[in-house]
Amino acid sequence: MLKEIREKVLNHQRITREEGMYLLQQAPLLELAPLANNWRYHYNPDKNVTFVVDTNLNYTNVCDAYCTFCAFYRTEKDSDAYTHTVDEMMDKIGQAYSKGVTRILMQGGLNSKLPLEYYENMLREAHKRFPDLSAHFYSAPEVKKMAQVSGLSVKDVLIRLKAAGLKSIPGGGSEVLTNRVKFKVSRLFPKGQVSDWTEVHREAHKLGIFTTATMMYGHLEEDEDIMEHLDVIRDLQDETKGFGAFIPWSFKKNDTALDKRIKEEAGPNKYLRIIALSRIYLDNIKHIQGSWFSEGKKTGQVSLHFGADDFGGTLFDENVMLAAGFYNRVTVDEVVTLIRESGFTPVERTTEYEILRKFERPEVVKA
Ligand code: SF4
Repeated sequence: MLKEIREKVLNHQRITREEGMYLLQQAPLLELAPLANNWRYHYNPDKNVTFVVDTNLNYTNVCDAYCTFCAFYRTEKDSDAYTHTVDEMMDKIGQAYSKGVTRILMQGGLNSKLPLEYYENMLREAHKRFPDLSAHFYSAPEVKKMAQVSGLSVKDVLIRLKAAGLKSIPGGGSEVLTNRVKFKVSRLFPKGQVSDWTEVHREAHKLGIFTTATMMYGHLEEDEDIMEHLDVIRDLQDETKGFGAFIPWSFKKNDTALDKRIKEEAGPNKYLRIIALSRIYLDNIKHIQGSWFSEGKKTGQVSLHFGADDFGGTLFDENVMLAAGFYNRVTVDEVVTLIRESGFTPVERTTEYEILRKFERPEVVKA
């Protein structure tokens, strides 16, 4: 089967689900890299690897979805539950701004007490006080929650958020996009079905709001679910062309309800396979993001040779994985070094992949 797949990839043709499954389960790992790079250099012909200087802020950890894979959420009664005011969040944004971030990735729990106006005010204030910052706010489940609390449609919620300054939506909340997996990992089912996530992204794309697609694997899914997830993303992208990037990462189990059910977290082999498979299978998405953050810096570097052309965000503050005992931090200088060490040219970008600055190597002056 590898021969047929190679033929298709070299001609930039679509591979089938069966062929994708072969790459996921059977193909020799090192065969995947050149195949993935064929698509990588088709879409991104030079040796640039992009990244965004950003931070990940959370406005509330109160959530009534109780996902079994989540160590971040609290109930209202927990002593360490919090919901920040808009002013408190502006202080946090201000601190991040002074460190040079160009984008704020803001997400929170599904808090039934928060009205739509709270989210709108957050966007308006952020735009008023920090007009050159890009607001990458509110994942699909949060938008669904806003619709539920306000009684408006998802479309009308998005229209209001866009009017308040929303620039783009992160792909969080997809986990693995099959109802089999959703049923197993969230008590929110049937409200949190695959169609809820796709509805938000479809409506966002129709309104011209840029979004990313993600996948968090390594919990209760089977390989069939991973392939079905990729099909959901590929089909929606055929329809809307609104996803700018695909970002997979592996589940971290500490302090989650799944801790004892999952023997071992997925490692670099699976990650590199999924990065390469995504690059080959999602033939209609321009960027695949490798992660220094979730997989460790060394695996992140290797992912750049398995089809990833982007190194994600600097994520100066990150609290969701931190709640699962997972700590990883980086500086801009370190990101630049990691990319250079991997043989690529670091390029700072916006959320929408516009180039901000290129970190060319300083010329060596001979004595
Ligand atoms: S993953 Fe999100 S929706 Fe699920 S419990 Fe955690 S905060 Fe709530």
